[in-house]
Amino acid sequence: MLRIALGGISHESNTFNPIHTGLEDFEIIRGENLLKLKVSKFLLDAGVDIIPTIYARALPSGMIKYDAYIRMRDELIGGLREARKVDGVCLILHGAMEIEKIGDGESDLVEAVREAVGEDPIISASLDLHGNISPRLLENADILTAYRTAPHIDIEETRIRAARLLIESLRNKLKPRSVMVKPPVLLPGELVVTDVEPALSLYSQLRKIDGMEGILSSSILVGMAWADSPDASASIIVTASNDRYEDKALYEACRLAEDYWRLREEFHYEVDVGSIEETIEMAESLSETPIFISDSGDNVTAGAAGDLAIFVEHLLSRRVKGAVVGGIIDPIAVKYCRDAGVGSNVRIEIGGRLDNVNGYPVEVRGKVMKLTERGAILRSNGVDILLTSRRMAWMSLESFEAFGVNPRDYRIVVVKLGYLTPDFRRIAAKSIMALSPGFTNQILNQLEYRKVKRPLYPLDKEFLWKPPCRES
Ligand SMILES: [Zn+2]
Repeated sequence: MLRIALGGISHESNTFNPIHTGLEDFEIIRGENLLKLKVSKFLLDAGVDIIPTIYARALPSGMIKYDAYIRMRDELIGGLREARKVDGVCLILHGAMEIEKIGDGESDLVEAVREAVGEDPIISASLDLHGNISPRLLENADILTAYRTAPHIDIEETRIRAARLLIESLRNKLKPRSVMVKPPVLLPGELVVTDVEPALSLYSQLRKIDGMEGILSSSILVGMAWADSPDASASIIVTASNDRYEDKALYEACRLAEDYWRLREEFHYEVDVGSIEETIEMAESLSETPIFISDSGDNVTAGAAGDLAIFVEHLLSRRVKGAVVGGIIDPIAVKYCRDAGVGSNVRIEIGGRLDNVNGYPVEVRGKVMKLTERGAILRSNGVDILLTSRRMAWMSLESFEAFGVNPRDYRIVVVKLGYLTPDFRRIAAKSIMALSPGFTNQILNQLEYRKVKRPLYPLDKEFLWKPPCRES
């Protein structure tokens, strides 16, 4: 019976957010509990023996604290060493994990995994398409395969693909090799929504490449724009079944990379965008409801702080009625509301404490409408502000329901996201994106990059690039 170790550390790190991520921010699944994952069920059904290690994940946030990472890495590697001999390792990774003092997390982790298991076992990893992949990762990972949808609706499918390719490689005695070409293009994820052109056509090529003789998998990674790292850019990765097909894999990777580069100016937002003021104006001019506005500069799902109250300030100064703001993290304000009690009128400062680079606390007068396990609802002049005591991502209706709030009851719903999640797409009469300030600012040249390799589009525009491959 094949013995396959399973585990991973998955984090999307935003290096602009100065608040670093600690152990307490991670959810760690250990041992037998790992067997409950869908990918485990797939492996078990395929008749392999799973050696569970740990799978740790956290919400996107600032880079990971050194000690926290080392603790998790040691635990994962400890599990591998205890297992002694394995035939393969199946890893769940992100690709944009940054660690204090170390930098690229995935390269470090997979290097340690390789050292623990030795040269022979095949290492297969699934990635988020927002990963910034370093050539170092490919030195130790044999099979790499990434999501093909943004917003992501193929997470389980991708993990299962990594597992399936691993099993097939072991059973057919393949020696998979991955190659990578990196077009010098770094785009915010919101510009590359995979069911909108030109991404749609680009991504539709992957299935064809996968079907070629000698090719196991192909991936287009957009990269993570808010990680200032030397590897921040798009990455095209193609995995060949053995070194005989490496040239072919490289040829296909070059072809995709050339397409990506050629189309760089064609990527566009799928929704109307504008300044905070402009998006409020747009929303007010529409009669259908609810209109969702993304406060995209403070997008928690890409690692921003999630506590900027600038949008609230604008809604209040324009005297907008019937709006709800989905989530401002502020434990101090929540406590103040709790102490005051439901029905009390309060005057408090909200937000701008975590991200005091792009924002500031905003004074709000309002009434405490409700206290919930997660926070408080403060109503100010027709604007309902949902304050949370813990950092959370508003990705589904459930986040609103936990406050007893139905977004359909409002004219305007402000969320701290970039593109809308599938749940919100279903109920939004229209979606608009505000190009607001924050650690996930969409306008990249307003951010201070120091480590990215230049030239890099769109920070640099006047340069030529060709993939490093020979003509075929
Ligand atoms: Zn992603």
